[in-house]
Amino acid sequence: MIVLKTQSELKTMMKAMRISAETLNIAEETIREGITTKELDKALYDFIIRSGAKPSFLGLYGFPATACISVNDVVIHGIPDDTRLKYGDIVSVDVGAYCDGFHGDNAYTFIVGDTSEENKKLLRETEAALYKGIEQAVVGNRVGDISHAIEQHISQFGYGIVRQFVGHGVGREMHEDPEVPNFGRAGHGPRLVEGMTIAIEPMVNLKGDAVKVMPDGWTTKTASGSVAAHFEHSIAITSNGPVILTKRK
Ligand code: MG
Repeated sequence: MIVLKTQSELKTMMKAMRISAETLNIAEETIREGITTKELDKALYDFIIRSGAKPSFLGLYGFPATACISVNDVVIHGIPDDTRLKYGDIVSVDVGAYCDGFHGDNAYTFIVGDTSEENKKLLRETEAALYKGIEQAVVGNRVGDISHAIEQHISQFGYGIVRQFVGHGVGREMHEDPEVPNFGRAGHGPRLVEGMTIAIEPMVNLKGDAVKVMPDGWTTKTASGSVAAHFEHSIAITSNGPVILTKRK
């Protein structure tokens, strides 16, 4: 069931969304060569608590940390640990904050120092695909229009779009209906109406679309061993077009 939000609920949601976005700013400031992903996670936890919110992911389906921190060939759901970030790594941070009854959700893939042109292009085009999807999030379109726009943008580069994991509605629950795949047919799927709030999150592998979940039940790697990118915004569908709720300042 798709839960629509009223204007006043959208206003209330904004605090969780703002804190979620600011948490990515903290991630950006904190990420450096030599830091462990556990230390990074602790900085994000401290920020969310200090902001008067709770980490949405901590304990969600049993996830053991504040953020999913996914390095290089880890696509999503990386568990923070004692791994030290190295110069040239790419690091996806997926994080949400819960506040006043609502969740925020967003992700960004950062570079530790500098990385290869090949990696930078993957990041650039995955983020561009996110915005292509957002452009289609208008009243009267369908979920498939978002999915198709993302797929169409990514397919021209020969990258692999992850199919096993998808975007989702977001609100009082972290994961609500509808599912928002990063591939699909234009003109198909649920109709987009005013008051829908969804998280759009392309997950794109440099090579091949297959992924494998590690024995910990979370860590999801590319099957090919290539790197992967992940960008996500929570957005609202309004009569004035899509509004990015997790815009970073
Ligand atoms: Mg999400």
